[in-house]
Amino acid sequence: MPQLAKRTGRARPSAIMQVAQKAKRLKAEGRDIISFSIGVPNFLPGPHVYAAAREALDHDSGQYGSNRGSDALLDAFIGHLERLGLPGYTRAHCASGIGAKHVLYTLAEVLLDEGDGFAFATPYWTTYLDIAEIVGADIQLLPCPPEQDYKLSPAQLDAALARKPKVFLFNNPSNPTGMVYTQAEIAALAEVLVRHPDTWIVTDDIYNAMVFDGIGYHNVVQARPELRERTIFVDSLSKTYGMPGWRVGLLAGPERVATAFATLNSNHITNVPEVVTAAAVAALNGPQDVPQAKCAEFQARRDLVMAALADIPGIVCPKPAGAFYVFPDVSVAFGKSHGDMPIRTDVDLCNALLEVKGVACVPGSAFGEPRALRISYTCPEAQLVPGLDRIREFFAELT
Ligand code: PLP
Repeated sequence: MPQLAKRTGRARPSAIMQVAQKAKRLKAEGRDIISFSIGVPNFLPGPHVYAAAREALDHDSGQYGSNRGSDALLDAFIGHLERLGLPGYTRAHCASGIGAKHVLYTLAEVLLDEGDGFAFATPYWTTYLDIAEIVGADIQLLPCPPEQDYKLSPAQLDAALARKPKVFLFNNPSNPTGMVYTQAEIAALAEVLVRHPDTWIVTDDIYNAMVFDGIGYHNVVQARPELRERTIFVDSLSKTYGMPGWRVGLLAGPERVATAFATLNSNHITNVPEVVTAAAVAALNGPQDVPQAKCAEFQARRDLVMAALADIPGIVCPKPAGAFYVFPDVSVAFGKSHGDMPIRTDVDLCNALLEVKGVACVPGSAFGEPRALRISYTCPEAQLVPGLDRIREFFAELT
């Protein structure tokens, strides 16, 4: 019997999806479930996006498109980069893919040979680990526990880069912690990066439109422009424009990286589809009021979640300043029980919370931090406060 390739054994189904599916099953059984588990925005793009998609359908060329992305898409992305404070990129520096997930996966293939060092902070977005394992990278995790606000320090980065990883992947704002690096913190990390010229830098900044408290979005290439020659900026329409299902991801970086990426596309996805491209161009070029309004809404929701958690004795939670996640350290519950359900781990806790209170959260171990759980607060408005109340009740009932 022929065997599957070894890499399939290294790929695991997403832990986040598993929780979401269990919540869905309980809901189908008639349970009243509130889901804080899945990281999708709670809005759809504006009518101009749908109008552009319809218009594109009416004029469908029916042909293959550019492997890099259409000129209109690349130009719209370049405009977006300028608005973000990242001017000076041309079409030759850019490429597009089927969501940031596909962009990151393909980038791993472009930058990493088997056994090459791949460094990133813990807590990490689950897919980083899976991608690293599938491509056979030598994974170097940089622990950033709640005691250091889940943030990477310059000294820690310096020590990690001394081991000369081929790629350093940096996520800001962070999924799952919601942490955002200030301009000064980014500048300090950039100083370190400049001293380690053998490492590619990938910045996964897809939550850049969701930054609170006036901190603003900052990138290492703004602090040290010489880093541009080995930094790849990754973005997506999923979170900013409420378009996760449209699957559009983009990158801007050195020309040879963008060109190699487009070559892999030519043997893989071929191109981002024409109708999707038209919708993406409309989102990027259109009014930016929806992302701005959503950012203000998410900041208010973050405050509600933080206030609820502050009421629970023993929970420690660094205050997030972006994205739509809160990542409390809930280890105070370990060793306790809810009724006859012992809570030994984050997974026990999430299972009990779902069974007893019908609230779905993701265990922190999915992100490499087993003391925490992730609350995604994009659920319908009417569910947020009751869901938080149920979490409070659950902790109060632990013995
Ligand atoms: N990067 C991070 C940090 C994410 O949280 C996600 C999705 O949740 C992605 C990338 C992938 O986004 P996309 O929908 O563009 O594939």
